[in-house]
Amino acid sequence: MGLGDEIMVTGEARRLQALDPRPVAVSDGRGRGRFHWLWEGSQRILRPEEARGKDCQWLVNGSGRRPYVDYVLTRKERWAYTDWRVTVPELHIPPEAMTWAKRWAGCVVVEPHIKPTASPNKQWGWDRWQQLVRICPDLPWVQPGARSVRVLDGVERVETVEFWQAVALLAHARAAVLPEGALHHAAAAVGLPAVVLFGHLCSPANTGYDLHINVTKGGPCGWRVPCGQCARAWAEITPEAVAEMLHGLMARRVA
Ligand SMILES: [Zn+2]
Repeated sequence: MGLGDEIMVTGEARRLQALDPRPVAVSDGRGRGRFHWLWEGSQRILRPEEARGKDCQWLVNGSGRRPYVDYVLTRKERWAYTDWRVTVPELHIPPEAMTWAKRWAGCVVVEPHIKPTASPNKQWGWDRWQQLVRICPDLPWVQPGARSVRVLDGVERVETVEFWQAVALLAHARAAVLPEGALHHAAAAVGLPAVVLFGHLCSPANTGYDLHINVTKGGPCGWRVPCGQCARAWAEITPEAVAEMLHGLMARRVA
C-alpha cells in the first residue's frame, strides 16, 4: 500500500470535516476499521477502537478502494481514473525528526527514484535527473533515502532511516523537484513549493496541488506497461525546462 495513498487520506478527512464536523473513522471497504501510522497526531481521524460507539463519519479508503481509480474500467496493465481531486493533506511530523532535519534548512530536495511497484512510466529517467543537478550546480541539492539507493552526482546524500525524516527535510527545505508520489503529497502537506513530474501517466487533475508546478504532457494514459507516448512526453520535459521552472518557483517564494 502506497504511503502517498495514506497521506491523501488525511486530506480526505479534512475535506469531510469541512462538511460535517464529526470525527472521521477509516474503513478498508471490507467492513474493517483501520489506522495508519502516518495519521498519528491527527485531530480528525479516530482509531477503530476510539470509533466504537462514537458518533463519527466513515471514510471508505484502502487497498482496492482508492477514490481516483475507476475500478470498473481499470485493467491490470492499464489503470483508469475518476474525476476525484485531492485535498491538501495534513501531517504531524514527530518533533525529533524536525530537530534532526534542521541542519539542512534551505536545501533543495531531489528524489530521482519512484517506488518499485509504481508504473515504469512514472520514471523521468536517471540521466535527466542527473542533468538537472549538473546544470544547477549552485543549488544546495539534497537527496534523501535509504543507504542502499543510487545517489546522483553533485548532491548531498542524506540517509533517512524512516519516512518522517524525509518529510521533516521537506518541511525545512526551500524547494523540491519530485516525481508524482509519496514525497510530493508530503511536500503539499508542509506547504513546500515543488516542481512535480507527472508526465503522460497520471494527471494533476487527480493528484496535483495548486501550490506546485505540475509538469504534464497529455494523458493520463494509466499504462502499467511501458508506453511510447509516456517516453515521448518525458523526452519533451527537458532538464533545462525543469530547471527554469524550479528557478521561477524559488524566485516567486523570495519575492
Ligand atoms: Zn503513457
